[in-house]
Amino acid sequence: MQAQVLPLESCPALVLNADFQPLSYFPLSLWHWQTVVKAVFLDRVQIVSEYDRVIRSPSFEFRLPSVIALKKYIKPAKHPAFTRFNLFLRDRFTCQYCGGTQRNGLDLTFDHVVPRAHGGRTTWENVTTACAPCNLSKGGRTPKEADMMPMSWPYQPTVFQLQANGRAFPPNHLHESWRDYLYWDTVLEP
Ligand SMILES: [Zn+2]
Repeated sequence: MQAQVLPLESCPALVLNADFQPLSYFPLSLWHWQTVVKAVFLDRVQIVSEYDRVIRSPSFEFRLPSVIALKKYIKPAKHPAFTRFNLFLRDRFTCQYCGGTQRNGLDLTFDHVVPRAHGGRTTWENVTTACAPCNLSKGGRTPKEADMMPMSWPYQPTVFQLQANGRAFPPNHLHESWRDYLYWDTVLEP
């Protein structure tokens, strides 16, 4: 009987920066195998660990990397981009008014803590994560008027803070060779 061969599509590589820290925790920095092969041949990455899966062509045989590290260090931006995703990540995908999360099936939205009608701006310091019911019930009122104070006042996060939050959301599948490079809280539990 032949050993089961992993489909190539299920063989992404975990990408580490030159300091062996994952480029990103959430979403986890993974590259498609074809991108990985290209980067290896261009000599841009170092292979850290491999799958058992071998790809062959008439001229070469190659074990697919499961963990790679960039040869050139990419300096992380100090301030992450003000995006929908990063804002939810700052707030850990949690409504800042009731503490509800997407995991509870809630739809998450944005709330201007100081409403736009009161001069509130669309910035890191004034936009927070709110579930749809909280957003609706707060309406166009200030926290004081609505008697709804956000659990944490919105702030501009650093990349480091977002990375730390991202570590709390491990993906469903982690290849065993990745574990040495990912220090998930969940993995450390007995
Ligand atoms: Zn809520």
